Amino acid sequence: MSDHVFPAGELMKGKRGLVMGVANKNSIAWGIARQLAAQGAEIAFSYQDEALERRVRPLVESLPCEPFMVQADVTDDASMDGCFKALQDKWGTIDFLVHAIAFAGKDELVGSFTENTTREGWRRAMEISAFSFVDAGKRASRLMPNGGAMVTLTYLGSERVVPSYNVMGVAKAALEASTRYMARDLGPHGIRVNALSAGPMRTLAMAGISGGKALMKTGREWSMMKEDTKMEGVAGAALYLLSDLGHSCTGETLHVDAGFHAVAVPDMADE
Ligand code: NAP
Repeated sequence: MSDHVFPAGELMKGKRGLVMGVANKNSIAWGIARQLAAQGAEIAFSYQDEALERRVRPLVESLPCEPFMVQADVTDDASMDGCFKALQDKWGTIDFLVHAIAFAGKDELVGSFTENTTREGWRRAMEISAFSFVDAGKRASRLMPNGGAMVTLTYLGSERVVPSYNVMGVAKAALEASTRYMARDLGPHGIRVNALSAGPMRTLAMAGISGGKALMKTGREWSMMKEDTKMEGVAGAALYLLSDLGHSCTGETLHVDAGFHAVAVPDMADE
């Protein structure tokens, strides 16, 4: 995975926000956070539990901004209340939200969607992967009296069938539709809401999907650019959407996948 961070700048100077979903140095949320910090952002990081806090703290402490970590399990209202209260107590207002959280059970990320999707599995995937953005977005918007920007992470499995992605594809479709409804509600308040549809990247979440390696290989071979999706491309797009560069862009699902999403048929040899 590329380690590239764009040259330091001031695109995010004076902006504060919450990044949700850093599990380790390969997390998409971490790639985005590094770019935001290099552009002068002040960042709060949420972590799900104490074990994760211990793992993520050294990363957070390596950034050029003051380390600020808050606990937030998106399935627990009290925990979400505590997270946003901590933000309000420390900063009063915020300017951006990065939501990079998803979960589905291993047994559901394999084989037949029709056979393997259970009521509980559906509920859990939808709650953690889609509703959590609506909930965090609502809470964040209350701390954005001067406007702001929100980004969530999605994947092409929402629009097209991807083997094994199954219930997560359905949750991502709900996430993208939620993004548009949130953008409509929050637009008049100067808050932009967008989704970033990233191509496959080697992260913990990806490791949970059966056939993840094959997905990456196909992504590379079928893509217009014949290469893996790069973290700096995804982080750069997030920087665009979260900074004033992204003014007037809202309700959008932006694909950053080396062009894979627009290909219907792979290259074929002439007969
Ligand atoms: P990751 O590093 O594993 O990040 C996923 C994060 O979700 C982890 O920090 C995880 O925390 C968190 N999470 C899960 N359940 C949670 C809960 N109940 N409360 C709070 N946090 C919770 O993987 P990633 O690939 O960067 O994933 C980030 C986002 O990008 C996801 O929405 C994913 O679907 C999306 N995405 C990934 C790819 C890809 O190829 N990797 C492509 C497109 C989109 P724990 O570790 O504690 O569970």
